Parts: sequence; structure tokens; C-alpha cells
Amino acid sequence: MRIDDILEQRRPCFSFEFFPPKDDEGVARLLATIGELEQDDPGFVSVTYGAGGSTRTRTIEMVTRIRRETNTEVMAHLTCAGSTRDELQDVLGELRDAGVENVLALRGDPPAGDSEWKPTPGGLSYSTELAALVSADYDFAIGAACHPEVHPEAPDMAWDIGFLKDKVAAGASFLISQLFFDSDLYFDFVEQVRAAGVTVPILPGIMPITNYSQLKRFTEMCGATIPDRLDRELAPVAEDKKAVEDLGVAYATLQCSDLLARGAPGIHFFTLNRSPATRSILAALRAARPWDRARSLV
Ligand code: FAD
Repeated sequence: MRIDDILEQRRPCFSFEFFPPKDDEGVARLLATIGELEQDDPGFVSVTYGAGGSTRTRTIEMVTRIRRETNTEVMAHLTCAGSTRDELQDVLGELRDAGVENVLALRGDPPAGDSEWKPTPGGLSYSTELAALVSADYDFAIGAACHPEVHPEAPDMAWDIGFLKDKVAAGASFLISQLFFDSDLYFDFVEQVRAAGVTVPILPGIMPITNYSQLKRFTEMCGATIPDRLDRELAPVAEDKKAVEDLGVAYATLQCSDLLARGAPGIHFFTLNRSPATRSILAALRAARPWDRARSLV
């Protein structure tokens, strides 16, 4: 089923993002995890596309197998990075032939070791071009990324939202946000995007914290801030894996609850392939049902 249709029918919509495992054993484990997740009735799951296009084959294989072997709807991430236009068309053809209906059209991050984004010769420069390429020749529901704290390469929010509008005009029918830890950032962002005339659903992207140094690395890369009040609790327990995970689950639960009570249409979880943390958050949310308190959707 197309995710834009799912988002019309299902509020809140919970989705789970995974990266493709490196070996067959990992693939089997992830398929089993997704099978177990069916009890949580996710709106969809998605599979990332490695930096620089490095996991192309494994992403296609994983998405194809989820489509074939589970009852959960799936979305393939696809990036401009490391591929020519023809290669992107090939990937899209494979996904279509496998019956996949949803694609997240992204520019992509540079491969590990490169700090600067450089388009591949014969390839595309921005996600807008990818969304246009997909919508011109295929019937996928197209999602795209958005950045509540401004994309790190954009000079300001107005510039970034201008291109976000172009992405939607090029065919994106829903957006998923970059990770953030202060819900006000999301609501301020949604307000600005709506004022710019963009009406498609914007799923907040939430990463339950499981590792402090990884958190620092990710936030530096994507330009997200860690609120001081959160850092003050995390920093002293940084070396205590269990304490970081417990705090991460508790914080994400409170944050998701706040988002849903204030009208967010769902939550997209960056699971980092650690589904137990995410499932605990989801169980607590289902028990508390914060969305029943939402007066209207943002
Ligand atoms: P774009 O929309 O292309 O924007 C990038 C920058 O260019 C922005 O500053 C924008 O303002 C500017 N811009 C856009 N169009 C133009 C234009 N026409 N002219 C000039 N400037 C322009 N990365 C991966 O490698 N693999 C993944 O699987 C992956 N999954 C992700 C999932 C989610 C939910 C999110 C939020 C991010 C994901 N990323 C992934 C990271 C993403 O690739 C990076 O955030 C990347 O730096 C930007 O991607 P984008 O699609 O937003 O880029």
C-alpha cells in the first residue's frame, strides 16, 4: 500500500527505519525482528541506503524480502549519492518489479571519509531532481527528508524551506524529519512549512539514544542540537551503557508523547536496528494514548 494512503487512513502512524545488515545471518535476524514487529502493527518499515550509495544491492534485497516475506508495508530509501541517472533508473526498475510501492528520495550523505557533498558525474545533485525523476516515470509514493534545525549546508531556514516546497512540487507526498530532541523545534518548523504553503504530512523522526558518543557523532553530522538539560543528564553516565539506554528510552517516550499530544501525525523511529528500545517506547505510548489529547493535527 502507498504510504501517502496509509497516512490518510491511520493516525497515529508509527514507522521503523532499519539499515540493511551486512550478511545473510543479519538479514534473517532482521526479517525475524520485522515479523515480531507485526504485533505492533506498524504503518510501515523503511530500509536505508548506505552513505555514498554503498548498500545498493543489500537495500534492494532487504526491501524485496520484506515485501515478499512479511505482512508489513515497506519503503526503500534511495539517494543520488554515487549513482548515475541510469543507475538510479535501474534501481527504481528493480524496486517496481519487486512490487515495492514507496521510495524515500534523498540526496544522500557523502561516503565515509568525505566531508563535502559532490554529485556523481552523470548523476543528480539534489533530492528534488530525484523526486522529479521518480515521479516522471514511476508510480511510487514518494517521501522526502526535511530538517527542523535547517540542513547544515543551507544558509537559513527560508532557503531550505524554499527547496522543500520544490521537493513537494516534484512529487513528494509526505516528509520525514531529521532527528531532533526538542519538540518545539518540530512544531515551529511545521508552522513555517505550512505558512510556505506545504500541506503534506510531516512525520517527526525520533532516534532513541542508546550510545552517547554515537549521539554526538550523528548530531554533529546532521546539525541537530542536544538540549543542555538532556546533555546534563547524559554526560555523567556516558560510559554506562545501560544507564544511557534507560535514559534514552525514557526521554524518547516523553518526547513522542508530547509530539503526539500536540498533533503530530505519527512517529518515524530511527531504530539503528535496535528494535527492543523502540518497542518499549511504543508499548508505553499505546498504554498512555497521548494522541487522544490532541485537539487537531499539525
Ligand atoms: P536535499 O533536499 O537535496 O538538500 C540538501 C541541501 O541542498 C539543503 O541544504 C537544501 O537546502 C539544498 N538544496 C536543495 N535543492 C537545491 C537546489 N536546487 N539548489 C541549491 N541548493 C539546494 N542518507 C543516506 O545516505 N542514506 C539514507 O538512507 C538516508 N536516510 C535518511 C532518512 C531520513 C528520514 C532523513 C531525514 C535523512 C536521511 N539521510 C540518509 C540523510 C540525508 O541524505 C542527508 O540529510 C542529506 O545531507 C540531505 O538530504 P536531503 O534529501 O534533505 O537533501
